[in-house]
Amino acid sequence: MQQVAVLGATGSIGLNTLDVIARHPETYQVFALSAHSNLTLLAKLAEQFRPRQLVVTDTSLDIRDFSQQIASIDTSIGIFQGPEALVDVASASDVDTVMAAIVGAAGLASSLAAAESGKKLLLANKESLVVAGELLMQAVRHSGATLLPIDSEHNAIFQCLPVDYSAGGIEQAGIAKILLTGSGGPFREWPIEELVKVTPEQACAHPNWDMGKKISVDSATMMNKGLEVIEACHLFGITTSQLEVVLHPQSIIHSMVSYVDGSVIAQLGQPDMRTPIAYGLSWPKRIDAGVEPLDFRQIAQLTFDTPDEQRYPCLKLAIEAFEAGGSAAAVLNAANEEAVSAFLANQIGFTQIAEVNEMALNSLENQFGLDIDGLIQQDLRAREFARSRIERIKQ
Ligand code: NAD
Ligand code: MG
Repeated sequence: MQQVAVLGATGSIGLNTLDVIARHPETYQVFALSAHSNLTLLAKLAEQFRPRQLVVTDTSLDIRDFSQQIASIDTSIGIFQGPEALVDVASASDVDTVMAAIVGAAGLASSLAAAESGKKLLLANKESLVVAGELLMQAVRHSGATLLPIDSEHNAIFQCLPVDYSAGGIEQAGIAKILLTGSGGPFREWPIEELVKVTPEQACAHPNWDMGKKISVDSATMMNKGLEVIEACHLFGITTSQLEVVLHPQSIIHSMVSYVDGSVIAQLGQPDMRTPIAYGLSWPKRIDAGVEPLDFRQIAQLTFDTPDEQRYPCLKLAIEAFEAGGSAAAVLNAANEEAVSAFLANQIGFTQIAEVNEMALNSLENQFGLDIDGLIQQDLRAREFARSRIERIKQ
């Protein structure tokens, strides 16, 4: 029995993970679930999965009624509140596998704790790698943790690499290039001058994937692909020049690896996150994920294109941030989280997300160390800066 902690259980990835787990009760047991503020859904999940522990991360919530409700289900379920409890769960000795499915840099401490304590870490929270990729990869190496990417593109690349691939070994493995695919989001064909009018509802309606709001907006700006470039560089030990972003609007090919002999290996499937989640849970074996098989007769065509820099300025910013090194990616990520939440709250326009991000990236020097405390300080500094710019835009 694998004991699994699902952090961010009430989100899109969390619920998909629980859907896969529910199909294999003989193999996976839910040890812990976390949610930020959706107590109704957390209680429902607790009833269904009977975990040993629950974590509510929002400290402003009064959880007395919730605790009573859980006690009426099972008095032995422990309830903890606050972000520190995530770290305790992620490193608990009873836990074998941690699904890191929190959104944003809020997931960093628990991802790092799981890596440091040698867990099998199923990493959906790409922001952890963007903010502190070097530290996270180092922690994995030191502890002997198993890091399996859940982001569909990185999971696809992982499936297309030689089984003995080790980070940094791209040339030894005979790899010419890693091809990271992206759909281009809902505004791929809009006239560029119309993008200023995009509403949060339009940005959250992704043509192929059903996801949380933040990543949906990131997909529309292609900041998501930018964050994924950084994620891939850390995971696979490559430089930005060893990777190419390819637009593929149908999201059937989830990414590819191109080898020096001319072979290109691709991973294909439905745009359904249960496939990479199931592969993470069962690796190196495979289990049923509840996903419909691909019907090639129904896929009329697979098309490919190059992303347009003018349409997607955030993609370029992310590549620049990774190349600059230091805390630049942490700054960009923090500014972007603030800008996206301001856009979702109708405080700034869609195209102003990139403007806020660019100003933060160009204005903030690395003021703190590159250890975890320094990166967190830099993240806070970038959020303050971004909020001050957002305030100016609002006026
Ligand atoms: P979501 O918004 O649907 O869910 C986020 C989860 O995190 C929820 O359970 C929420 O309670 C929790 N959360 C929110 N703020 C928190 C905070 N401050 N502290 C602790 N917990 C908090 O998001 P999602 O779409 O499931 O994405 C989760 C992560 O997975 C993101 O990093 C995203 O980039 C990545 N990812 C998602 C998809 C997808 O298809 N949804 C695909 C690839 C990668
Ligand atoms: Mg992805």
